[in-house]
Amino acid sequence: MTAAIAVEGLNKSFGGRRVVRDFSIEVGEGRITGFLGPNGSGKTTTLRMLCGLLTPDSGHGTALGYDILTESDEIKRRTGYMTQRFSLYEDLTVEENLQFAARIHELDRRAERVEAALEQLGLAERRRQLAGTLSGGWKQRLALAVATLHEPSLLLLDEPTAGVDPQARRDFWDEIHALAAKGLTVLVSTHYMDEAERCHDIAYIAYGKLLARGTAEEVIGAARLSTWRGEGPGIDRLSHDLLKDPAVEMAAPFGLALHVSGSDAAALDRALAPYRRPPFRWTPTEPTLEDVFIHLMSGVEDNFR
Ligand code: ADP
Repeated sequence: MTAAIAVEGLNKSFGGRRVVRDFSIEVGEGRITGFLGPNGSGKTTTLRMLCGLLTPDSGHGTALGYDILTESDEIKRRTGYMTQRFSLYEDLTVEENLQFAARIHELDRRAERVEAALEQLGLAERRRQLAGTLSGGWKQRLALAVATLHEPSLLLLDEPTAGVDPQARRDFWDEIHALAAKGLTVLVSTHYMDEAERCHDIAYIAYGKLLARGTAEEVIGAARLSTWRGEGPGIDRLSHDLLKDPAVEMAAPFGLALHVSGSDAAALDRALAPYRRPPFRWTPTEPTLEDVFIHLMSGVEDNFR
């Protein structure tokens, strides 16, 4: 694997509060890595340090082969950054937004590149529409076109699909995979589990610590959770009682069912024994990514206190 990013021991504090702690990661070229974790856990700060937008207090490493401390201009030039708020000029047309980005990046063959981007993302028919009047999904497409116009090698997406409908999100992800297949390395922060599953790799961060890393299967496997799915009328009301037993590390409703997890399979079995009676039915199940994230989160909350 060629590493697009390799950093070690990154730390960052704001106002004496450490928001990123000893963060190390390697990301392969052309991989799509999803950054997940609760709000305020340092995802955005981490992403910004990885592309040279923010200097860490300590730590070192490279992105795209350049030193994140001393060559951040080189990294920035080769990075596309798309934020949640789309960063578009709402009172410029679709075409003008692209032309503006072309000028900012001092690109050659501007007209040609703008035309290609309009075609590629299906925006040609809307070229004269004001960006501010586009729907959420079209704004997002345009924002992606703007962020990738200068053909970056690294793309940072900060909660790119917040507030966008499911079909537009699927189209967006197809586009991201097409870009990655051409070698673009993508780092994306997200809150959506279905998006996490669409990433090649996942990094789960809580309170500034990297708690899990790998493919979805690896992250699920490494958690070594034993999980049961309970069904039956009123099962959702059991979670409170179940959580009193230390063997039950997580009890969370999934639709009409209840997912119950713990690391000690035998102890979990004993905890569930009193509830193995009608009208309840229990079946062992594979933990989902969400089960694992809830589990990781509960563990770190305890450590934090
Ligand atoms: P996330 O992306 O996981 O929601 P952030 O990296 O945005 O987390 O923020 C982590 C913490 O750092 C938050 O508590 C946030 O308020 C704080 N923070 C982020 N940027 C700054 C800044 N420039 N100055 C002061 N505090 C900041």
